[in-house]
Amino acid sequence: MIDITNLHKRFGPLHVLKGINLTVDKGEVLSVIGSSGSGKSTLLYCINGLESIQDGSIRVDDTEVHHPKTDLNRLRQKLGMVFQQWNSFPHLTALENVALAPRIVKGQSKSEASERASEQLNHVGLGDKLDSYPHALSGGQQQRLAIARALAMEPSLMLFDEATSALDPELVGEVLDTMRMLAREGMTMICVTHEMGFARDVSDRVAYFHQGIMEEIGPPEQLFNTPQSEHTRAFLSKVR
Ligand code: ADP
Ligand code: MG
Repeated sequence: MIDITNLHKRFGPLHVLKGINLTVDKGEVLSVIGSSGSGKSTLLYCINGLESIQDGSIRVDDTEVHHPKTDLNRLRQKLGMVFQQWNSFPHLTALENVALAPRIVKGQSKSEASERASEQLNHVGLGDKLDSYPHALSGGQQQRLAIARALAMEPSLMLFDEATSALDPELVGEVLDTMRMLAREGMTMICVTHEMGFARDVSDRVAYFHQGIMEEIGPPEQLFNTPQSEHTRAFLSKVR
């Protein structure tokens, strides 16, 4: 589903991604771990075309993301993205927040979009919050609302950038459970995360990034139990 070849990303003189080669299969869950500043978020922004690239290529479902003729708006409909902190529209209810993009971008009727939004909110466990405004939701509920908003566009791939990092510890679990549910349902997912338990239990593969290089990638048991690179070992000893 995703095929990244020799990806280089620079911000001026700063070389942030240094020749990344990575494929992600349909239905696969990939966790991306690594120190702050190693280029994990930049990778996600390059995949959805929010950042330009300087060399190499990224294909999503046979679409060349950085080809000048690529319709990025159309591509992004296939890519759901959930950030660390998502600000849903404060003046819209949970239901209206979820229904908005399908109405505007997909042209769904108000009743169709509302019905589907209500299903999505039920699915992430917010069936009793349809008429709540974002400020009345806990951080964990707001992140689940963000996930429902992304799902409402029926993406073929979900990108998560530290979706639980801004949450109080007691709220992390409910969001990880929602992500786990999506994984079980067969969603293709790339999850940048600091949650090593999630990476270990839910991912098919884990990639470790170090200073713009994908140092190591493999099944979780291999990466966590017998890391091959010295940098991976040093990182894991700090986070465990
Ligand atoms: P991570 O998500 O792994 O913490 P990032 O991808 O956010 O790392 O950042 C990688 C490097 O790129 C960092 O040195 C960061 O300061 C730099 N960087 C990220 N975004 C920009 C930007 N828009 N302009 C300049 N430098 C950036
Ligand atoms: Mg980041």
